[in-house]
Amino acid sequence: MRIPIKEVTPEIGTAHVAGWVHEERDLGGLTFLLVRDRTGILQVTIPKKKVSEEVLAALKEISRESVIECTGVVKATEKAPGGRELVPETLTVLSRAATPLPLDVSEKVPADLDTRLDNRYLDLRKPRVNAIFQIRSAVLRAISEYLWDHGFTQTQTPKIVAAATEGGTELFPLAYFDKEAFLNQSPQLYKQMLMSAGFDRVFEIGAIFRAEEHNTVRHLNEATSIDIEMSFADQEDAMSVLENVVAYAYQYVKDNCADALAALGIEDFQVPSVPFPRITYEEAIAISTEGGEPLVFGDDLSSASERIIGEKMGTMYFITEWPSSTRPFYTMPFLDRPEVCRAFDMMHPRMELSSGAQRCHIYDLLVSQIKEKGLNVDAFDFYLNPFKYGMPPHAGWGLGTERLIMTMLGLQNIREGVLFPRDRHRVSP
Ligand code: ATP
Ligand code: MG
Repeated sequence: MRIPIKEVTPEIGTAHVAGWVHEERDLGGLTFLLVRDRTGILQVTIPKKKVSEEVLAALKEISRESVIECTGVVKATEKAPGGRELVPETLTVLSRAATPLPLDVSEKVPADLDTRLDNRYLDLRKPRVNAIFQIRSAVLRAISEYLWDHGFTQTQTPKIVAAATEGGTELFPLAYFDKEAFLNQSPQLYKQMLMSAGFDRVFEIGAIFRAEEHNTVRHLNEATSIDIEMSFADQEDAMSVLENVVAYAYQYVKDNCADALAALGIEDFQVPSVPFPRITYEEAIAISTEGGEPLVFGDDLSSASERIIGEKMGTMYFITEWPSSTRPFYTMPFLDRPEVCRAFDMMHPRMELSSGAQRCHIYDLLVSQIKEKGLNVDAFDFYLNPFKYGMPPHAGWGLGTERLIMTMLGLQNIREGVLFPRDRHRVSP
C-alpha cells in the first residue's frame, strides 16, 4: 500500500511511496531524487552500485516532474529533508514528463502570473500554491459547518436567469433558445423568495458572474459567493452572523491548517476578534476626506478611500447607514429618514469583503424602489409575487470567497485564490 510521504519515518522500515520527481541530482556513483506528493517531499537515494538493474533502467527514464513509485528501506539521515531517506528496491516510472517543462515547479526559475495560469496544472503542484487551496477548502468547510450549526439550510439557486440583480451593465447575456437570459450576478432575488417560502434561514456557496469593466487585482468575472438570508431579522442580526462566521473560519484555519500556513510562510496567523468595530458611512467619508481623498454624501468609496479608512481602522470593520442612492433596489431604507438605508459593508483594511442589508419586505415600497432605479417592474414579476402573499422581514449578505482568502493569506492578486480564474482576457484553461 502506498503511504503519504508525510508518514515516512525511519521507524516504519520499508515504505512504498509514489509521487512526482521534484528534483534530480546526479553525483556520478550516487543519484538523489526528491519525490513530492501532496503531503511532503522525500529524498530517494540511489547508490548505483548497490541497486538492481531494474532500478537503474528506471532511473535512466526519469525526468523532472515524471510520476514514479518506489519501495525501499527508510533510513535516518540528517542531511535529507525531514531527516530520512529511502533507498529503493523497486523503482517504476508511471508517467514520464516531457522536457523542457513549461514551468519550473521547484520555483528556482520565477514565472509571471500569466505563465503560471497558462500552465496551472504545473503551478498547482507547487506546495505553496497547493496550500492556498487546502486553506480555501477548510474555510468553506468551516463556514458551512457554522451556518449548519446555526439553523441555516444549504440551497442551490439558478445560475441562468431572466433578470439583472445588481444592475444591467455587468451582465453576461446568454444564448438561451428563443429567450433572453443571463448568467446570474448574485443569488439575491432567489434567497429572498426562499424567505417567503418559509425557509427562515438559508445559505448558498456558488458561482456569481459579473462582466466587470476593468481588469483589477480584486475582481473576477466568475467568483464564488457565500450568501445568507435570514427571516425575522434586521441588519444588526445579519452583521452578527457575518463577523462570527468569519472569525470562526479564521480560528478553524489556525487550528487545522498548520502545514498549509507554514508552506505559505505565514507564522503569525491572527484570528480577528469579535465584534468588529462599526462606523457609519458619514464617519467613513469624513475619514477619507481627512486622509486626502475627498468624498461627499452619495459617493461610493473609491479603492483609495477604502485604503485610507482601512489604515485608520487597522482591523476588519463594518460601514453602516449607507445613502439609499448607493444601494440596490431591494435594500430597506430607514423609514424615518429614507435617504439612508439599513445596508452595511464588511471591510478588511485592504478592501470590501461583503455587502449586506436588511431587505425591503414591503411590496409597495419595493415596487417604487425598482421604478426609482429605472428598472422595468414587469421583468421582476417572478420576484415580486412572493412579496404579495406573506413575506417576513429579512436580512442577509454576500461574502466573496476569493477576497476572504486573498486577505486572509495576504495574496497580492485575487487570481491566486482561484484554481482557474476567469478575467477579461482569460477563459482558458
Ligand atoms: P466592488 O465594489 O468591490 O466591486 P461590489 O460592491 O460590486 O464589489 P457586491 O455586489 O456587494 O460587490 O458583492 C458582494 C461581495 O461579493 C463583494 O463584497 C465581494 O467580496 C464579492 N464580489 C463581488 N463582485 C466580485 C468580483 N467581480 N470578483 C470577486 N468578488 C466579487
Ligand atoms: Mg458591495
